[in-house]
Amino acid sequence: MAVLDVNGSSESPVKIPEIKFTKLFIGGSFVDSASGKTFETVDPRTGEAIARVAEGDKEDVDLAVKAARDAFDHGPWPRLSGRARGRIMLKFADLIDEHVEELALLDTIDAGKLFSWGKAVDIPGVAELLRYYAGAADKIHGDTLKMSREFQAYTLREPIGVVGLIIPWNFPSLMFFIKVAPALAAGCTMVVKPAQQTPLSSLYYAHLAKLAGVPDGVINVVTGNGPTAGAAICSHMDVDKVSFTGSTEVGRLIMQAAAMSNLKSVSLELGGKSPLVIFDDADVDKATDLALLGILFNKGEICVAGSRVLVQEGIYDEVAKKLAEKAKRWVVGDPFNPAVNQGPQVDKKQFERILSYIEHGKREGATLLTGGKPCGHKGYYIEPTIFKDVTDNMRIAQEEIFGPVMSLMKFKTIEEAIQRANATRYGLAAGIVTKDIDVANRVSRSIRAGIIWINCYFAFDNDCPYGGYKMSGFGREQGLHALDNYLQTKSVVTPIYNSPWL
Ligand code: ADP
Repeated sequence: MAVLDVNGSSESPVKIPEIKFTKLFIGGSFVDSASGKTFETVDPRTGEAIARVAEGDKEDVDLAVKAARDAFDHGPWPRLSGRARGRIMLKFADLIDEHVEELALLDTIDAGKLFSWGKAVDIPGVAELLRYYAGAADKIHGDTLKMSREFQAYTLREPIGVVGLIIPWNFPSLMFFIKVAPALAAGCTMVVKPAQQTPLSSLYYAHLAKLAGVPDGVINVVTGNGPTAGAAICSHMDVDKVSFTGSTEVGRLIMQAAAMSNLKSVSLELGGKSPLVIFDDADVDKATDLALLGILFNKGEICVAGSRVLVQEGIYDEVAKKLAEKAKRWVVGDPFNPAVNQGPQVDKKQFERILSYIEHGKREGATLLTGGKPCGHKGYYIEPTIFKDVTDNMRIAQEEIFGPVMSLMKFKTIEEAIQRANATRYGLAAGIVTKDIDVANRVSRSIRAGIIWINCYFAFDNDCPYGGYKMSGFGREQGLHALDNYLQTKSVVTPIYNSPWL
């Protein structure tokens, strides 16, 4: 495969500016951590430190929750009209549009994401996401109930309170707003913990929120580690809800912490091992483009990656050959270079984890069709990797790798495709490639997953909910469904005039 500038940032076409925001954001101010501790955030292109960021822990979380609690119990945000909240959110979105380049740069140096994609899609996309929920903020209403006896009732949909939002590192901006935007629209106040690998853009967003007029204490950002700062949020008695995106293992810990503290409600968006099922009648060229995109987009660091590609036997060999050819043309390199398709994995830990899965694949007897090695001498680059002849029991077919590693599998019948697509504990997404509408309908209804893409992949939209079946979690994000995560329903009942209950 083509490899560009993977040996360091010296030739990078973009100059890295000084990082402006590195402290915790609590009660509307940037502050040091109570302990004074900081941690390094690292550029995955080189493995070198970008900046030191305040390391929040339990004491800082306590202060952030107190600020959020005060803002919820006594501050204006939950009491503003939806329209007024929406107007502030629109201002916030406009400010993001004014800083697209700077924000995209932060996610590139922190997460290794493609700079051109960040500028064109990711960052403008989060401004649009905010606008979507700004428009929803004044359309939150309950029902009027005609009761069976002499009463009438209505329901109120009220903000759930102080929410803890735990963000993963793979889409630092998008995941921030997928949670923050509906929580703001609902009238909640929040403590956000970005992933320790990617804290920089979250702090920048906190600054823009303040400029937009979001009242102090509504958005607090505590940077730090999961088992310390993250765990303190999840077990806090004054946090009413936690929304988490990340690994299934940590999702389990979060539910435990919620259960052992105040029984806060939890929504979880966890791992996946999503199948892309390609039938014999597919256009092989289009299907292989889709399959490659499904696993290589964002270097495979996406929970809905199409990591298991099931191909019907009639076109299996042709698909394998085309995939290998196309993977060789996929360009790995410095994510600032616009000719590059794939930057470095987020950090050393993920890099080593992916390489160890590749070794498992080889040991378990899968055939390495292409890739399989790191690229360059510096940073965390990995070749696009395809294994063929993968069987359901292999670890590379069962466990989430979260990297550019595809498992190609052969099937004969539609029944077998359905059974094997479901042969995983996960259920986040699936893709189907066929020209036959009956096959598409039957398979889409039979796969247990939260979103199904027919003849497309990653077709996300602000208005289209997604989330997990099975061990991929529960609760839906995006769309109006996401508001449910941040609202609770109150029923108000009164007797009707002349009722015998009066
Ligand atoms: P990954 O395994 O992909 O790095 P994690 O699930 O570990 O993802 O992390 C996702 C987010 O969860 C990060 O913000 C991380 O700091 C946080 N986190 C990790 N462990 C815990 C924990 N025990 N409690 C709360 N948050 C945690």
